[in-house]
Amino acid sequence: MSKKLLLKDAHIEGIRHYDVYRKQGGYDAVEKALAMTPDAIVEEVKTSGLRGRGGAGFPTGMKWSFLAKPEGIPRYLVVNADESEPGTFKDRYLMEFIPHLLIEGMIISSFALGANTAYIYIRGEYAWIPEILEQAIDEAKAAGFLGKNILGKGYDLEIYVQRGAGAYICGEETALLESLEGKRGNPRLKPPFPAVKGLWESPTVVNNVETIAAVVPIINITGAEYAKIGVGRSTGTKLISACGNINKPGVYEIDMTITVEEFIYSEEYCGGIPNGKKLKACIPGGSSVPIVPANLLLKTINGEPRYMNYESLADGGFATGTMMGSGGFIVLDEDQCIVKHTMSLAHFYAHESCGQCTPCREGTPWMYKILKNIETGKGTMADIDLLWDIQRKIEGNTICPLGDAAAWPVAAAIRHFRDEFEWHIDNPEALTRNYGLAGYADPIP
Ligand code: NAD
Ligand code: SF4
Repeated sequence: MSKKLLLKDAHIEGIRHYDVYRKQGGYDAVEKALAMTPDAIVEEVKTSGLRGRGGAGFPTGMKWSFLAKPEGIPRYLVVNADESEPGTFKDRYLMEFIPHLLIEGMIISSFALGANTAYIYIRGEYAWIPEILEQAIDEAKAAGFLGKNILGKGYDLEIYVQRGAGAYICGEETALLESLEGKRGNPRLKPPFPAVKGLWESPTVVNNVETIAAVVPIINITGAEYAKIGVGRSTGTKLISACGNINKPGVYEIDMTITVEEFIYSEEYCGGIPNGKKLKACIPGGSSVPIVPANLLLKTINGEPRYMNYESLADGGFATGTMMGSGGFIVLDEDQCIVKHTMSLAHFYAHESCGQCTPCREGTPWMYKILKNIETGKGTMADIDLLWDIQRKIEGNTICPLGDAAAWPVAAAIRHFRDEFEWHIDNPEALTRNYGLAGYADPIP
C-alpha cells in the first residue's frame, strides 16, 4: 500500500475545519517552519527532491532559489489552482476536502520566499470551492496563523482567492499572472521567468496546489525523509486523478513505486476495466501528454514493467514513452476510437488557443477539421501526412506550451494507431456516427 502524506486525513469528518485539522497535527509545520530561517526551509525543499506537481515536474527548491530578491520590491507567491487539463481533478479534491493543507503550505512557502501577499488563482468552473478556501483562510486568521505578526514572530501574510473565468490558457503561469493583473489572459514570452519578473513585474513564484500542499509533510518529516519515499528523482507521493474506462474512478495518492499495471488493475486503485474489456491505451498525465498503447504502457522498451513515476513513464522519450504530467490518468478500453478521441482533443485545443501565435491559432483548428473529416468518412490518405506535417510545424514554434499540448496527442495517435486512421479512410461506409444531427455541438464549422 502506498504511503499517504497528503490525503491521510482527508476521510476524517470535519477535517475541512480548523479545529479538526489542528487536532490532527495541522499547523504544527507552520510552528516548526517559523522557528527556522527562510533559507533553511528552501534547503529542506531542495533536499526533498519535490518536483512541480502541475505538469512540468520542475524541481521546486530550485525554482524557489531562482527567486530574485531586489531591495524594496515585494515578492509574491501565486498558487495555480486553475486545474483545467482534461482528466485532471486532483487539486479540486485537495482544496475541497482538506483546504487547510493548502493554506498551511502557503504560509510556510510564503515565509520561505519572503512574500507577504499570496494568491490562489482558481478556475471559474470550481464555483463552490473559493468559499471553502475563504472559510479556511478566515479560520487560520482567527487562530493567529495569518494576518499581522503571525505567532508573534513578526511575519505578516495575507492570502487572497481570485476566481478565473473559465479559460484553459489561464492555467499557463504567465497568462494566469496577466489575468490576475486584470488583463486578458495572454501568455507572455519567457524568459524573463516569473521568478524574476512576475506579478506586477515583481519576483513571483507560481506553484501548483499539490506542490504547495506537499511542503507541509516535507517540513513535518524533513526533506531527507521525504526523499526516501518513491524512487530516483520521483520522490515523495503523487496525487493521480483516474478516469475513463475503469471500475473505480477517483483521486489516489501513490508513492511512485507501483507499476502502471498494478495501478489499473488492483482493487486498491482503479479496480480494472469494466465488463472484462481489454486495455487499449492510456494517457497518464492529462490530455496534453502522448497517448500510449497497452503494449508499451505495461512494459518499457527494455521489457521492464512501466512504473507510475516521472522517469519510467517517459522511458524511450516521446517516440515510445509519455509523461507523468499533471497526473490526469485517462484509460481507454478496446471499444474506444482513437480517431474520435484525438478529434475531440483537437477540438478542445482549437477552442482554447488564445490566438497570439500563428502556428497555434491556425494550426489547431486545421488539425481539428482534418480529424473531423477522417472521423466522418471524408478523409483521404494524404490527410494523415498533412496532419503529421501540421503538428510538426506547431511543436516548439509557439509562445506557450499549448501549441505543444495540441501537437503531441495528434503525433502520438498517428505514431501508434496509424492503422485506425487508415481504416477510417478505407471504410467510410462503416462510420455510422452522425455528427451535426446527433446532438454533437460543433463550434468550429
Ligand atoms: P516549464 O517547463 O516551462 O516551466 C516549469 C516551471 O519552472 C515554471 O514555473 C517556470 O517558470 C519555471 N522555470 C523553468 N525554467 C526556469 C528558469 N530558468 N528560471 C526560473 N524559473 C524557471 O513548464 P510550464 O509551461 O510551466 O508547464 C507546462 C506543463 O503544464 C505541461 O507539462 C502540462 O502537463 C502542464 N499543464 C497542466 C495543467 C493542469 O491543469 N494542471 C494544464 C495544462 C498544462
Ligand atoms: Fe496562445 Fe497558442 Fe500561442 Fe499559447 S501557443 S500563446 S495559446 S496562440
